[in-house]
Amino acid sequence: MNIAGIPIEIKGSALALLLLSAIVGNPLHIILLFAFITIHEFGHIGAASRYGLVTHRIELHWYGGAAIIPSVGLIPKQELQIALAGPAVSLLLAGIFAAANSLQPVSVLSDMVDINLMIAAFNMLPIFPLDGGRVLRSLLAMRGSARATLISLRIGLVVSIAAFIALDFALMPGILAILMILFNYRPDLMKE
Ligand SMILES: [Zn+2]
Repeated sequence: MNIAGIPIEIKGSALALLLLSAIVGNPLHIILLFAFITIHEFGHIGAASRYGLVTHRIELHWYGGAAIIPSVGLIPKQELQIALAGPAVSLLLAGIFAAANSLQPVSVLSDMVDINLMIAAFNMLPIFPLDGGRVLRSLLAMRGSARATLISLRIGLVVSIAAFIALDFALMPGILAILMILFNYRPDLMKE
């Protein structure tokens, strides 16, 4: 699939989640989730293109999406703007659907508000390489920290383990915590 010249790669794990939801849950919610994640990624892509960066593709995984944008040589202010652009788009969409829902209450509209708020909130967690972690890293780098990536990874580790415990050992923060342990010891494994 190709949207606005950007290839969209739907990974097997995303299809598996869709299939599972068709059996046990509500596939419409998962389809909306992936659609809004894709629009969120276009927020990043739009901001990146302002700096002349060309996006290779969007990948959709069961846990979310990623715009693959080679971002070597970005200055922190540019990284900050690109990182904030995705959550900004999600919040904008939530606002539009909330306004529409207040005019004409429909349950799917309120679901669309919730999904976009959830995407924005999840991505703004200060866990590198999520958007919030990138915001944190760029703010640290703007303050002159030479170890911005390392410090962001350490904070991500602490936040993900705290979330795992606070949310009664839920699956998602558990997976994030495992990823953070991996990235803290092997940052070279991280796909930026
Ligand atoms: Zn994002």
